[in-house]
Amino acid sequence: MEVNNITLIKYKKCCGCEACAGACPLSLIEMKHDDAGFLYPQIIKIEECVNCGLCLKKCPVSKDNIPSKLNQRRKELFFWVKDRDELLSSSSGGLATHLYRKSLEGGVYIVGVQYTDDFMGAQYILTNDAKNMERFKGSKYIQACKNDIYNQVKKMLNSGSEVLFIGLPCEVAAMKLFSDSEKLYTCELVCHGPTSSKVLSRYISHLEERQKATVVSYTSRFKNPHWKPLNSRIIYDNGITRTQIFADTELGKAFQMVKRYSCYHCEYKNGVTAADLTIGDFHAANSQRGDYNPDGVSICLVNTQRGQKISQSLADDDVVTGVADHVAAMANRALVESLPKLPGRERFIRIMKQNGLDVACKDVIVVTVLKYRRYPHRARSRIRRILRRIRATR
Ligand SMILES: Cc1cc2nc3c(=O)[nH]c(=O)nc-3n(C[C@H](O)[C@H](O)[C@H](O)COP(=O)(O)OP(=O)(O)OC[C@H]3O[C@@H](n4cnc5c(N)ncnc54)[C@H](O)[C@@H]3O)c2cc1C
Repeated sequence: MEVNNITLIKYKKCCGCEACAGACPLSLIEMKHDDAGFLYPQIIKIEECVNCGLCLKKCPVSKDNIPSKLNQRRKELFFWVKDRDELLSSSSGGLATHLYRKSLEGGVYIVGVQYTDDFMGAQYILTNDAKNMERFKGSKYIQACKNDIYNQVKKMLNSGSEVLFIGLPCEVAAMKLFSDSEKLYTCELVCHGPTSSKVLSRYISHLEERQKATVVSYTSRFKNPHWKPLNSRIIYDNGITRTQIFADTELGKAFQMVKRYSCYHCEYKNGVTAADLTIGDFHAANSQRGDYNPDGVSICLVNTQRGQKISQSLADDDVVTGVADHVAAMANRALVESLPKLPGRERFIRIMKQNGLDVACKDVIVVTVLKYRRYPHRARSRIRRILRRIRATR
């Protein structure tokens, strides 16, 4: 029999969206971790696979499922919420939370990502409870567990409810392949690739061992006191609170170093999108133009007619918004292209697996210093390049 299943998608292409696992009518697909902790599909009992091809039909990186590039410039809006507490507790301008709030008021169900209670992972949740919305706030820089979210949403849509789905671009594309219902509203985040939840769990475990206490709160988008630079804040059950520049933490370093292979060649860039809206940080915000707020500004790109309708409903007395005039892409590289794989990724993963995340982070610094010690000029330009890359991702 001709093979017609998810094994046709190469390891380096798979984005780990878990759609194939949710699509298999015989539940033969399980997601298994690779050495870096990313999930990949594996057909258990391959002899029972009937090659129906449903897994491929729901795969957002399968050639036939990638949407064509938008052929016109998108409308761009800047945005922030006026309530300062709300703004400070969100990632950038609080646009996602504002969309959730409006949706819940209109009886629409919402989908977002929250940390697990032990902060060792993150997961997608479908809800109509505003309490969950609070936990959706803030970017979790790891790939979230899907919890069969696509089938859950499809069921909800089939029962006549409306749903707002906010997620990473490939995950939104997977959702759209499960249901193209008029009642589904989608919003993707600008994304330069998450790291794996295994990296986060190693980080949290290590912190807890060092501190001899349990982490009761963690965020990598703590505004201290302002939006930039990105800060992480950890609160332990013994009352101790630690705040640090995110890029200087072990998780921040691993976030730069350890991404999925598919993220280095992401299909969903530069106007290739399945979502109604694209939202991210408005790095191009400028006080002279009047679109800057030190506490955070979101950018919103309008991709579809439905996105246009949603964007028209954004403005109210509680928010500041306006046209951003096509400047977002200039300062937001992740909108346009994938970030390149950093040299040393495999070595980092090997050391992390054998000796722990802290040793892998120290090794990166030692290797870089030793390698470039004799070549100060090359070292300087390499350091400059790394700094540019880190700045571009903030
Ligand atoms: C892995 C990752 C990489 C990103 N890279 C960039 C980038 O390079 N450039 C850029 O401009 N913006 C990037 N963002 C988006 C940015 O960090 C903010 O999420 C975005 O600006 C929305 O801010 P907000 O204030 O509107 O969100 P908030 O109101 O704080 O809400 C946060 C939203 O993000 C969702 N979310 C959080 N973590 C995840 C996750 N792991 N998977 C799926 N959904 C999640 C929540 O469900 C919620 O909808 C990235 C986000 C993530 C998760």
